[in-house]
Amino acid sequence: MNFSKTYDVIIVGGGHAGCEAALASARMGASVLLLTISMDKIAAMSCNPAIGGLAKGNLVKDLDALGGEMAKNIDASCIQLNVLNMRKGAAAQSSRAQADKAKYAYRMTETLLNQRGLDVKQAVVSDIITENGAAAGVKTLCGQTFYGGKTIICSGTFLKGKIYIGASFQEGGRAYEPASVELSDSLALLGFEAVRLKTGTPARLRADSIDYSRLAPYDTGGDKRPFSFETEKLPPLEGRCWSAYTNEETHRIVRENLSRSLYYSSADKGIGPRYCPSMEDKVTKFPDRSRHQIILEPEGEASGEVYPNGFSTSLPVDVQLAAYRTIEGLENCRFTRPAYAIEYEGFQPTGLYSSYETKKVKGLYFAGQINGTSGYEEAAVQGFMAGVNAVLSLDGREPFTLGRDESYIGVLTDDLVTKGIDEPYRMFTSRGEYRLRLREDNAEYRLLDYGRRLGLISEKRYKRFSEEKASVEKEIERLKSVSVKLNAGNRAVLEKEGVYMNRGQSAYDFLKRPEGSYDMLKKMGLGKLEGRAALQAETMIKYSGYIAKQNEDVARFARLEKRKIPADFSYDGIAGLRREYAEKLEKIRPSTLGQALRIPGMSLAAAAILDVALKKAGKN
Ligand SMILES: Cc1cc2nc3c(=O)[nH]c(=O)nc-3n(C[C@H](O)[C@H](O)[C@H](O)COP(=O)(O)OP(=O)(O)OC[C@H]3O[C@@H](n4cnc5c(N)ncnc54)[C@H](O)[C@@H]3O)c2cc1C
Repeated sequence: MNFSKTYDVIIVGGGHAGCEAALASARMGASVLLLTISMDKIAAMSCNPAIGGLAKGNLVKDLDALGGEMAKNIDASCIQLNVLNMRKGAAAQSSRAQADKAKYAYRMTETLLNQRGLDVKQAVVSDIITENGAAAGVKTLCGQTFYGGKTIICSGTFLKGKIYIGASFQEGGRAYEPASVELSDSLALLGFEAVRLKTGTPARLRADSIDYSRLAPYDTGGDKRPFSFETEKLPPLEGRCWSAYTNEETHRIVRENLSRSLYYSSADKGIGPRYCPSMEDKVTKFPDRSRHQIILEPEGEASGEVYPNGFSTSLPVDVQLAAYRTIEGLENCRFTRPAYAIEYEGFQPTGLYSSYETKKVKGLYFAGQINGTSGYEEAAVQGFMAGVNAVLSLDGREPFTLGRDESYIGVLTDDLVTKGIDEPYRMFTSRGEYRLRLREDNAEYRLLDYGRRLGLISEKRYKRFSEEKASVEKEIERLKSVSVKLNAGNRAVLEKEGVYMNRGQSAYDFLKRPEGSYDMLKKMGLGKLEGRAALQAETMIKYSGYIAKQNEDVARFARLEKRKIPADFSYDGIAGLRREYAEKLEKIRPSTLGQALRIPGMSLAAAAILDVALKKAGKN
């Protein structure tokens, strides 16, 4: 069966990367086909029922400011939401929401099905079709052929996935879903070399088998701000999490049964994330720890299932249950689904350009877990970037990339394509060198213009933002000439908040003090803004000194980032450039001198030689 319709973009996989890729490319006006193994599993959350967290929340906010969907989707389906690190400054704050998994997936599916220009079909893609070395379409296991200008693979943990529980293993891309074997073979034929990676998930517990009277509520506190700058109202936030702890008995059971875990005892296993260890790893790597915290997170309003965050394992099911039941409050717990480990194929992202196009096959893009990352948020932003770039390249427009100083999306992309991965990559705030700029609160200030130019931001939203921005800028200027006088009324406000002042100062300088807040200015009758605009004015003023310093660093590196390296630049025969550096540069093919300098092991001297060679080539 041949479907002769030629799509502009074909997307393989309806996970978090695939959904954003499909929506972004269709919303930019392309004709798009999304093929996925099961229509019932679109936007499924394979592991924890949560979106966001430190640095991950920033990714979601940035995606929202560019015109992505994840933020709106979680706002509509969350059952709890908190801004983490409220006691720290704005740059350390990130949002995290508990999702109703079923609602999350349902709403995203509905959004895809209602998107103009987007066809969604259930099919297992088995082959990538190429013509003259460029992607030209895909074939499916049941014999269909679809032609398309660009192809984006977002196959997650499915490529030659193997699921391990105890002494058994079976092929699978996720529990009870088939692995993608033929697609992996097709990619191998095109010359892609896979690396094997792994991850794991805890068992799911019946909510009514947990004795909550023996557990403490787990509440991170924090404001309830929506993820999306467009969301006006959140659903009722009634989901509650609980804190539990493993103990010596739990650890004894796990330790004594390590040999019964084929996955754990096998020498030949994929690389797992160090930051997210299984219980087997925890008891062996931290033998002195007498307990580990487990957070019990509801999977949804009506699901009746609970996710015990922190207790992933691939031990046999009877051992898993015995170990879980040693935990106070879980003595009579029952499983709905056992825990398991999964090993799957990914590809070194150094084989990609910053546009997520593969260097090997023109018009073929990879996004999400296939690039060695882990996490819904990391996958979603890559899908978005790949979708946007696939559309831009249809008519030869410049790729859309973000700098490390502009967004954690820029940090993620640059880390992936420049350094590659040695374990599943997740975003941490520590990966960004310009953290003070990359705050959640100013995502629209950094990125909305880009989203608008891509055609992904409505004029209504842009107008709302422009008005807010203008009012914030005006207020910041006004506060420079307003004084906080030490009259009786102001003194009362200051005393109540525990702020000591021995003389008056401008409202602007008052806000620069760590303890000064816009809220206090309002109580003194000196602040004119409300809500988000008020918070933005306060944050901009508070950070202004630090940001000015950081801007100097950005400017210093900007010269390196501006020095573009042509895609066909030859590193052969550059006088004075050692062979090992030439090989590294040839492999990564950096797009700027700045990126070249970030290649692991690259020396300043080599970058200087390259700089001279680029200047010379430019003159010629
Ligand atoms: C067991 C397990 C535990 C995990 N634990 C964690 C964790 O603790 N923390 C964390 O951050 N992340 C975890 N993850 C990873 C998280 O699920 C992924 O990072 C995220 O879902 C990746 O999104 P994606 O879009 O790249 O892929 P996925 O969400 O995996 O989606 C892939 C999609 O591709 C489709 N597909 C695959 N092959 C084909 C084909 N040939 N044809 C058509 N469609 C195809 C699938 O049907 C699926 O819809 C875990 C995943 C699993 C499976």
